[in-house]
Parts: sequence; structure tokens; C-alpha cells
Amino acid sequence: MLWRGRRQSDNVEDMRGGGFGGGMGGGPFGRPGGGLRIPIGRGGRGGGLSGIIILIVLFFALRACGIDPLELLSEGGMAPQSSQTTQGSTHARDEMTQFVSTVLAETEDVWDGIFQSEGQTYEHPKLVLFSGGISSACGYASSAAGPFYCPGDHKVYLDTAFFDQLARQFDAAGDFAQAYVVAHEVGHHVQNLTGILPKFNQMRQSMSEGEANQMSVRVELQADCFAGIWGHYTNQKGILERGDLEEALNAAAQIGDDTLQRRTQGYVVPESFNHGTSAQRQKWFRAGFESGKLSACDTFNNPI
Ligand SMILES: [Zn+2]
Repeated sequence: MLWRGRRQSDNVEDMRGGGFGGGMGGGPFGRPGGGLRIPIGRGGRGGGLSGIIILIVLFFALRACGIDPLELLSEGGMAPQSSQTTQGSTHARDEMTQFVSTVLAETEDVWDGIFQSEGQTYEHPKLVLFSGGISSACGYASSAAGPFYCPGDHKVYLDTAFFDQLARQFDAAGDFAQAYVVAHEVGHHVQNLTGILPKFNQMRQSMSEGEANQMSVRVELQADCFAGIWGHYTNQKGILERGDLEEALNAAAQIGDDTLQRRTQGYVVPESFNHGTSAQRQKWFRAGFESGKLSACDTFNNPI
């Protein structure tokens, strides 16, 4: 990815080395606090943001029953490798910060444009770099749980050591693989702004664990598709290099539930899937990448 020299976002907060905010409560990804802003748009043209929201609300309206909230937004469920951050030099850190800031800026540009075309305004999320552990509006999270988005404070949380883990432990190296991770989390932010995440968080209170898992898969696959949309426009700018798309697709495959489970426990339990299989994650990233259209990302009303 030809990212050097491009605009860097000001929305990166570097909490590395100082991010242990002392929050202790609960699991790593508690429920988001209240007060979500949901700038859902007026009704309107079928295919865009508003169209997809209508479809999703309909979908949710058809569901209910059971109990059992469960963790949602952790990305991966991978075994902790180490709780250290990038052990690289200051220089390496700076490079990583610049890279992440550039990718974030690219997502801002793309989603600014998409929201604008729907007559809406995209609220830029913050991205917090941390090491070891961090307190967020979603509770305390350790690096072991992987990158995540917290709907309660509209921030993406990323320990860049995850990128090393992705490369070494999960055979998913490459800058565009890393960019995909960032774009996926930003995809959750888009879901938060459009009301999908709040709806899901509300609905899953009354779902069985199995139902919530199935719903979680659809939410996650849509975030993959949104990451693909970002990739589509990034590609149009001519900054992708040969092999970049393959890096993202490979990453999507390596962190598919089936592949992860096979790797970590040696067998697969489909009922426990909550992010989607490798094939599904690739399929939906590709759907966004090839079309660049929100309407291609309706994971709620299509077979996944
Ligand atoms: Zn996700």
C-alpha cells in the first residue's frame, strides 16, 4: 500500500505506555454505556444508508426471545501471545503511528464522501493506540482480546502488537492486512452511527446465546463488507499495490472462526461462531471491495 506522504488523521490518541487506566470491572467488553448518538437519516432513496437501516430494523423487528447477552466486539478471541507492545525502536513506533494515522485518514475521506452523498455527516471516530491493557467506556480490555470498537465512546482501540501477532501467529502479514483490521473496526463505527450496533445491543439482551452468535456473525460480516467498501475507494485512488487485496483476503481467512478454532483448539464448533467463517469473511470483504456500494453489504437480509 502506497501510504507514505498521504494525509494523517489527527484522531489517533497514543496511550501506549500509559493506558492502564485502572478500570477493573467486569469482562473486557462490557456493555457500552448509555447515551449513544444515533444520527439516523431521514427516509429516502432505497439503496443507501437509509435503505440499509430500514432493512436492518425490519430484520431485528422479526426477532426476539431467550436471554444471555454475550461479548460482542472482541475481534478474534485469540490466545494471548504477550502483553508487550511493539518492542521496536522509537522509530518503529513512529512509523506504525504514521501508518495507522494514514489509514484512519483514508477511512475518514471515504466515509465522509459516502455519508455526504446520503445528505448526512460522518462523525470521525478516535483511534486509541494502547499497550497491554486499556480502560474504555466498554470496560477494561487487555491486548489479548484483540482490537475492538467501543460504541460507548465511539473509539477504536488497537494495540499494534496485534499486527505482529497477525503476521507471526496467524500468517497474515502485510500492510494492507493491517489496514483491513483498522477498516473493519471503523466499519463498526459506521454501524454505530447508522443505528445497527445500538439495535443489536438492545436486541441481544433478549436473545439466546445461539441467536446472539448468529446475529453477531451478520454484524461482523457487514463490518468486513464495509472494510471492503473502503478498500474499493482506496483502490480507485491508485494506492494499492499488487498483492494488497490478497493480503486482506488472507487476513480475513486467517481470522475466520473456523480457521481460528481449528488452530487454537483443533476442532470446530459452528454454534459458537460469532464472526463468520473464513469463506464468509472473504466473501463479504470482496462484496464491498468489488462494488463499493452499501447495498452490497446487507448481511441481514441475504444468505451469508
Ligand atoms: Zn468486528
